Amino acid sequence: MRTRVCISIDTEFSIGGAFTDPARLPVAEPMVWCEVDGRSQGLGFLLDTFERHRIPATFFVEAAQRYYFRDADPMGTIARRIAAHGHEVQLHTHPCWSVFRHDDWREQVTREPRQDDFYGRAEEDTVHLLRQGQETFADWGVPLPTVFRSGNLQHDDTLFAAMARCGIPYSSCVGLAVFDSGDARYRLYSGAHPRHGVLEMPVLTFEDWRIGGRRHRKTLTIAGTSFAETRLLLERAHEQRVPLVVILTHPFEYVQRRDDGMRTARRNALHQGRLERLCRYLDCNRDRFQPTGLGEAGSALQAAPDERNVLLQGSGWRSVRRLAEQVAYDRYGKWALARRGAPA
Ligand SMILES: [Zn+2]
Repeated sequence: MRTRVCISIDTEFSIGGAFTDPARLPVAEPMVWCEVDGRSQGLGFLLDTFERHRIPATFFVEAAQRYYFRDADPMGTIARRIAAHGHEVQLHTHPCWSVFRHDDWREQVTREPRQDDFYGRAEEDTVHLLRQGQETFADWGVPLPTVFRSGNLQHDDTLFAAMARCGIPYSSCVGLAVFDSGDARYRLYSGAHPRHGVLEMPVLTFEDWRIGGRRHRKTLTIAGTSFAETRLLLERAHEQRVPLVVILTHPFEYVQRRDDGMRTARRNALHQGRLERLCRYLDCNRDRFQPTGLGEAGSALQAAPDERNVLLQGSGWRSVRRLAEQVAYDRYGKWALARRGAPA
């Protein structure tokens, strides 16, 4: 049995500090294309890399930003471009954008700073947000979403009831090291699990180290996991017949930046190298791994979901090496950005 591997990319704009500083504004395309010296190091880099290695990916495209970017609707162009490359375009929602419906949004975010929570949100409110996403996809002229990814991976049982009501069959809203609701029914590390009739395919959570009684868990991302660790996890997933591995990333993680407008930015060679190596590895090991979109994985797994919920083990020394590498590269990036941004 081949292990399905789904690379998922949350594709979103930025509030850009507008909630806390009246002088600042949300940022649209620069957060997705991440242009540096006229070249797209974000979405452009991703599309090129996937094409070179023939990897179908899943882009979770944020739809609630339309409450702010009403007329220009810049995400529509982006969604169509992704679909034209043959990737799945699926629904991502950050509830915080819906506050822009109100003329007095500045007062509302001051009164209620937690605008972005799905956890604890009323079912009707969530249904409204999901329908807004479905209408947005119809307006954009891309296929209706079959998979939902919540902002910040926040979820609760009510969210799944809302997805069922909206006819969304698949979900990828759990990644326990990012968000843990505390509800045992949603403590999902791997596999595919029906909840309210919606099939949840969590972003993989693994144990990266254990010292004595202390255990540390991590959710599988390109920005947080070295290629050596990811390869080990893929191999272990295959050995243990885990049906799919879901990996999370964002376009803006492929640049180092001082601001969301990318006025001072440089390519993130560390993260780009990891994605490049992962795609090459998947391309060369198709006998064991099947790169696939999440909607496609959902429809294949629906009939016989694997509910074992395996917690894969990483490797302690590899995570220590990754931490050291990351710290060194981030420091170097800050120094390099300071040089770029310095007045001549
Ligand atoms: Zn997001």
